[in-house]
Amino acid sequence: MLQQTQMDRGVFYYRRWLERFPDIRAVAVAEEREILKYWEGLGYYARARNLHKAARMMVDRHQGKIPESYEALLGLPGIGAYTAAAIASIAFNHDIAVVDANVERIFARLFDIAGPVKDSATKKWIHKKAADLLPPGEARIFNQALMDLGGLICTPKNPACGSCPVAEFCAALKAGRVHERPVVQASAKTIQIEMATGILIRQGLLFIQQRLADDVWGGLWEFPGGRLEIGETPEEAVIREYREETGFAVEIVAGITTVIHHYMHYKVVLHAFSCRLTGECTEPELREAQDFRWVVPQDLARYGFPAGHRKIIEYMKKRA
Ligand code: SF4
Repeated sequence: MLQQTQMDRGVFYYRRWLERFPDIRAVAVAEEREILKYWEGLGYYARARNLHKAARMMVDRHQGKIPESYEALLGLPGIGAYTAAAIASIAFNHDIAVVDANVERIFARLFDIAGPVKDSATKKWIHKKAADLLPPGEARIFNQALMDLGGLICTPKNPACGSCPVAEFCAALKAGRVHERPVVQASAKTIQIEMATGILIRQGLLFIQQRLADDVWGGLWEFPGGRLEIGETPEEAVIREYREETGFAVEIVAGITTVIHHYMHYKVVLHAFSCRLTGECTEPELREAQDFRWVVPQDLARYGFPAGHRKIIEYMKKRA
């Protein structure tokens, strides 16, 4: 929950989650729709879906418990090498080093590493070094001590070298290169994407559709829409997207708002319009969705939406 999320926000979600899902079995038996609803607003919804699948797997294969071994943890959906190492060492004290961005920064300074820390060769070297330095039987303390050192003393900016417990071993400090370490690669430029969506209203009901399970934001709900094609206006995009995604012929009634949402490497500019059917209302021919509903505006809160669409809903709520 804390990935790309501020601590106080994460704590709020975590407590609310534990109240509703107090143990692994409670997650396992819940419907995906409810899982996504409790995750709504945290983004990166694949994590929620993986957590759900992992809970089911733990009930089926591990008597409803979190497995202890690194290998068994790696077998669970959504658990990669870093998380498996963190759980195995911190929860079960297995001798496995955990290497995160904090540890990479500390090692880049301690050993005055001149190459970019994200290079695979450098990463490999740091992993091996961390494993060599780990005192047997003390992985839990060693890993958390490194995390604390990186979080409190050897911070990205202005590290507190004067109060650092490992300053005497620090090669970058000796060489006067602390502020040049770690070496980072230039970050990729943010790409702007322009999108449009239409809120189709018929007799007071709004049309929403549920995204395909294996799609980005799979299982979440949305108003149909998509990316603008070259030379297309947002209004034209809405009309085209409705035709392509649902088979509905619609026309624009009015502009609602434009929201901007930032993802790691993308900035999405999303134009929202109200629209109505130009022909008869038939069953939609869903091409990019697995389900649909006609809902009253108050019911939108019961469904999980991606962040951009949620901003539009919030805007409409305030205006209403
Ligand atoms: S001496 Fe400074 S740069 Fe070196 S590990 Fe300690 S805090 Fe980091």
